Amino acid sequence: KLYNMVQDLKGNIRVFCRVRPIFNSEMKGVIDYIGKDGSLFVLDPSKPQKDARKTFQFNQVFAPTATQDDVFRETQPLIRSVMDGYNVCIFAYGQTGSGKTYTMSGPPGRSATEMGINYLALNDLFLICDKRKDMMTTCSSEDDGLSLPDATMHSVNSTMDVLRLMEAGEVNRAVSSTSMNNRSSRSHSIFMVHVRGKDTSGGTIRSCLHLVDLAGSERVDKSEVTGDRLKEAQYINKSLSCLGDVIYALAQKNSHIPYRNSKLTLLLQDALGGQAKTLMFAHLSPEEDSFGETVSTLKFAQRVS
Ligand code: ADP
Ligand code: MG
Repeated sequence: KLYNMVQDLKGNIRVFCRVRPIFNSEMKGVIDYIGKDGSLFVLDPSKPQKDARKTFQFNQVFAPTATQDDVFRETQPLIRSVMDGYNVCIFAYGQTGSGKTYTMSGPPGRSATEMGINYLALNDLFLICDKRKDMMTTCSSEDDGLSLPDATMHSVNSTMDVLRLMEAGEVNRAVSSTSMNNRSSRSHSIFMVHVRGKDTSGGTIRSCLHLVDLAGSERVDKSEVTGDRLKEAQYINKSLSCLGDVIYALAQKNSHIPYRNSKLTLLLQDALGGQAKTLMFAHLSPEEDSFGETVSTLKFAQRVS
């Protein structure tokens, strides 16, 4: 409880930035400095040294050397507040290839130490449940009036149950990607966990945790795509910018929050409003040729923080 009070003082929206490693050693990087205080400097490769530096500030910044455990440890208190009745939403934002899925799920064929937040979060919630003898249920969407034709709801009692569901979800996402040209980077993946139980003083808890691996944020060149592919790209851009608008409006404590401008924000309306806590991971590809997308990710993240 004390922790939650501290969090409340800090506000309900946090932004963490994570920089993935450079894989090709031939490539130059643009991330100049990562500070323990959440500051990050990037270098614009097109500018002379003295004008090249841009500074950004976040709640946390994770360097390429940060492990899954490092990232989870900083996220754990927020996740645990679900068990005190808070709704929590965690988003992974960034261009394709920047590490969104790595953070949320882990790399393909992951080992036990490479598990992402989805698994580590559920594992942690079950540990707390065991202590409290609570029942917990993961499911898709609960009669909220929004139709999600392919979503299904499942009751779960252990981390193994959750793992099996997540793997089934990943297979579904991958299957459509082979038939439709890397579909997974052009779809939002939402893992919804509904928690029902009793708190330590016997009161009823109804809360939810949404773990969202967003579609790639890269701008698609209109001259290069047409037809359905263009429509899809426009839909993604719109839903991501609407998400940014909603989080920005929440951060500003505006009276009007534009949930209705996209299906994504409409679906997450209850999860994002009121006392909900939101965490946005801004993922960066550090290579020079991603500089434009890196700056646009940083600007998006800066605006909502
Ligand atoms: P995205 O989901 O944003 O498209 P991925 O999570 O698939 O990106 O990451 C792209 C590649 O980089 C994958 O091979 C992934 O395993 C690897 N990767 C991403 N982040 C890290 C990291 N922090 N440490 C090591 N490898 C990473
Ligand atoms: Mg991905």
